[in-house]
Amino acid sequence: MTTITLVQGDITRVSADAIVNAANSSLLGGGGVDGAIHRRGGPAILRECRALRASRYGKGLPTGRAVATIAGDLDARWVIHTVGPVYSETEDQSDLLASCYRESLRVADGLGARTVAFPAISTGVFRWPMTDAARIAVTAVREAETAVREVGFVLFDERAYAAFASQLPD
Ligand code: ADP
Repeated sequence: MTTITLVQGDITRVSADAIVNAANSSLLGGGGVDGAIHRRGGPAILRECRALRASRYGKGLPTGRAVATIAGDLDARWVIHTVGPVYSETEDQSDLLASCYRESLRVADGLGARTVAFPAISTGVFRWPMTDAARIAVTAVREAETAVREVGFVLFDERAYAAFASQLPD
């Protein structure tokens, strides 16, 4: 059984075996949560991202996939970078968003991580409507077959927290 917990705050301040980054496919950093993770985690994370880019992901990390690096100065053993889909009004990309959660948990299992913290993937620059993103995220984690004991969704603001809370029983 995986326990789901909700926290409102900054994901770079939490402690977990693995912290998930809503990265972009370049793996070379960006804004939002990605920028915050690299800022607080320090340059070692970006160095490993660059090496991954050179060795395995020359064309970038595909949307819906996940890959781990060290966590630098963060209070975690690993950062798991995953690339969410950009929200589209014409194309249903829900399964790609769900895949970010599934693949991140699969990578976490491979590492032996037991606690994993997720941000609300794709809900910032990638514009996914928060309530729908919350439903997809919670469903994907609930349905995942994983040895991860605790998944924490770390929501940056009250609106995101409320959207995720509405997907969980009281
Ligand atoms: P994406 O490109 O996947 O949309 P963003 O980083 O732009 O990624 O946004 C994803 C979500 O992460 C948004 O809801 C945003 O408010 C939130 N966010 C931004 N910074 C942080 C942070 N430091 N901790 C947790 N969540 C954050």
